[in-house]
Amino acid sequence: FKPIFLGLLPSDNPLNTLKRATNSQKCIRVGGKHNDLQDVGKDAYHHTFFEMLGNWSFGDYSKKTACELAWQLLTDVYQLPKRSLYVTYFGGDAALGLEPDFECYHIWRKIGVPEDHIFPFGVKDNFWEMGNTGPCGPCTEIHFDHLAGQQHVPPAGQRINSGTPSLIELWNLVFIQYNRQADGSLETLQNLHVDTGMGLERLVAVLQGSMSNYDTDLFQPLFQKLHEVSSVRPYQGLVGSSDVDFIDTSYRIISDHARMFTVAISDGVLPDEYDAGNSLRRVIRRALTAAKVRLKAPKGTVAFLAPCVVESLGDIFPELHQNIQMVIETVNEEEDRLLNQIAKAQRLLDRNRLNVKGNILSGEVAWECYFVHGLQQDLIEDLALSRGLQVDWNVFNKKMKEEQNKRTAVDEKPQGHLPAVSLHLVDMLNHRGILPTDDMDKYEYYS
Ligand code: ATP
Ligand code: MG
Ligand code: MG
Ligand code: MG
Repeated sequence: FKPIFLGLLPSDNPLNTLKRATNSQKCIRVGGKHNDLQDVGKDAYHHTFFEMLGNWSFGDYSKKTACELAWQLLTDVYQLPKRSLYVTYFGGDAALGLEPDFECYHIWRKIGVPEDHIFPFGVKDNFWEMGNTGPCGPCTEIHFDHLAGQQHVPPAGQRINSGTPSLIELWNLVFIQYNRQADGSLETLQNLHVDTGMGLERLVAVLQGSMSNYDTDLFQPLFQKLHEVSSVRPYQGLVGSSDVDFIDTSYRIISDHARMFTVAISDGVLPDEYDAGNSLRRVIRRALTAAKVRLKAPKGTVAFLAPCVVESLGDIFPELHQNIQMVIETVNEEEDRLLNQIAKAQRLLDRNRLNVKGNILSGEVAWECYFVHGLQQDLIEDLALSRGLQVDWNVFNKKMKEEQNKRTAVDEKPQGHLPAVSLHLVDMLNHRGILPTDDMDKYEYYS
């Protein structure tokens, strides 16, 4: 729809007569400006792949109509209690010369949203941009409070946009008013357009009365399949530090990733060293590693989930049915590659067994497993544990820091460019919490 927003369609293009649309978009957020990969599995509402339900106005309906339509759908059609809903609007940014969107505030008040259910937020949450350039504008978001009306709950103002699963962002209504230019300036568009996005999985959780997207019929069948073949306990819904053995986190990662790779491969992406193919490979590997290390699941488990994904999504996306064989073969090939690399790492550990001090596996050897053989830290720890060894992660982390310094020094590009870092390095840094996800936009990746 970008050319429509920007008025770039040739005048005889039939899409010029299109005024409104609704759709469900396949969304994958594992790279670029909106990268959620590191959060997936750790929380209950970010996925690598999700469906974004949208309604669109191409210079047709106003902000007011957009808000009214959304409100009507949620409160009349879905019958969500109004007291559970909160809205946000763009509070402006003086430094960037952007005014608060008071028009939007007054629209919500007129609709009947009480003052204490409306909050202003800044650019990060309420000014939407798809990338560094292109159509963009202020947005208003609708959030759902799972704990509305309950006692001893922190005020909504403290929970909204704070990362708590109890008050969840559900729907983003973007008012496309500008086109961001390459020099960073904002060009005002001739018409106001509306582009909204609501996460289907979050909506399903709300409608099924659950605080976690994973406790819905979108994920439960995948968990059941996984439990059938794994050698560990069933899913219990533990998140964060209460999931001490990472079993529930692994159930979430594997099931989420299975949906992502099934969709991505069916759309023609294949594991590769570069770009989207590389992101796909990393996602498949995370799923394979979690299945092997945490769920003690046999070879073939991850690919075995693909038919279950097709059962859930295949009616809406028929291409999944056509490509299922390809998905299974691709994931199994990736598993073979991984097992091969594990075998190499095993040989490395054998060669180094005489160097083991006490029951400590040296950080250098662990580093080699990671950097040379491409194994995730989870897997290295597991290999070490199976030999009764603890990994010296301090030395490992030091090596990683050295590598980071080396890379940024070597790869710093001339002014105006982002420093380049390898995807592999980013993965490592993220895993150890050294490079927070928020900082990822500052780097350009190569694999
Ligand atoms: P969040 O703040 O929770 O990360 P967002 O502000 O990045 O969400 P938007 O870019 O506004 O998300 O996308 C529109 C909607 O898509 C969100 O309101 C949410 O319902 C859904 N959504 C966004 N990211 C994800 C994700 N990773 N997994 C599932 N749903 C998502
Ligand atoms: Mg986000
Ligand atoms: Mg948000
Ligand atoms: Mg948002």
